[in-house]
Amino acid sequence: EVNERMCAASFKAQFVSSLISPLVSLCTYLTIGAVAVLGCFFVIDGTIRVGSLQAFIRYIWQINDPLSQISQLSSQVQSAFAAMGRIFNLMDEEEEVQNGKVEIRPDKVRGEVTFDHVVFGYDDETLMRDVNFQAKPGKMVAIVGPTGAGKTTLMNLLLRFYDVKGGAIKIDGIDIRDMNREELRQLFSLVLQDTWLFKGSIYDNIHYGRLTARKDEVISAAKMANVHHFIKTLTGGYNFEINEESSNISQGEKQLLTIARTILADNRILILDEATSSVDTRTEQRIQTAMDRLMQGRTSFVIAHRLSTIRDADTILFMDHGNIIEQGSHEELLKKNGAYAALYYSQFE
Ligand code: ADP
Repeated sequence: EVNERMCAASFKAQFVSSLISPLVSLCTYLTIGAVAVLGCFFVIDGTIRVGSLQAFIRYIWQINDPLSQISQLSSQVQSAFAAMGRIFNLMDEEEEVQNGKVEIRPDKVRGEVTFDHVVFGYDDETLMRDVNFQAKPGKMVAIVGPTGAGKTTLMNLLLRFYDVKGGAIKIDGIDIRDMNREELRQLFSLVLQDTWLFKGSIYDNIHYGRLTARKDEVISAAKMANVHHFIKTLTGGYNFEINEESSNISQGEKQLLTIARTILADNRILILDEATSSVDTRTEQRIQTAMDRLMQGRTSFVIAHRLSTIRDADTILFMDHGNIIEQGSHEELLKKNGAYAALYYSQFE
């Protein structure tokens, strides 16, 4: 559907804008033709002179020039209008209402997360029918399942990018709809596959995790994230400048820096999108130990792509078509010999 709409729109845009330029030329030529014929008659009966006629025809050319330039720009003008429309749509969006009934004290939160008969769908179609699980404070929940199973959706709900359509999600027993979104999100740290660093020193990049942190806290976070020694080898150490595209350090190092930042932020609940693709085995090991340290004492949700890393998870949720079809520890699920066991053996056979 989207493709077809796009096809129709670009056809219209191309068709209209490619017609405008020849139309302008056609008008110009017709006008010149008419002026030439009429002008000849006027010259013959002596009303005007040949010079005036020639000057008049030149003026027509001079009008034609800017008009044809504008017509060549017409496709760009159209896309500019479309882009402007989008900007205005964004500006017209309503502000999120912060009308939470419960005030959150981040330092008092234990980090118990409960999904209680959650029902959800993006559109009218229901994706999650009845999702139930509990993550105890400080425990690790791994989420596995094929692409499109609803792993990201689960996290979107937890962060309240969308509200549930039935049931409730609770943190420490409080329905998250009773909290302000801003306060709720302050309880979470995310480590995602696409690392985000900004242009500036390594120190500033880590320090961004908690702006009130002291220098020694930044360094100890870097040590815990296994990245301190690497930083020391760079010219300037912690003052080493990361460039605009952060292309002057490797993917693995970027990952470790974001982990250091997350350690510094010290939030109760973590969401980790396991991201050890495209790094060498040694860096992978470093990332893994850094992640393990990061998860200690914090409730963590790990979206796992390879099963080797989640054997120790306290709970594994196996999702398919939006619902949890199996849950339990690694051993329990293997004993069950269901979908998880099949996936596990397929990866390790
Ligand atoms: P996973 O992370 O397990 O790959 P997702 O949670 O991204 O799966 O997607 C679950 C289902 O929800 C998919 O069928 C996907 O097409 C649909 N979906 C995801 N995001 C949206 C969205 N913003 N709007 C509508 N449907 C979506």
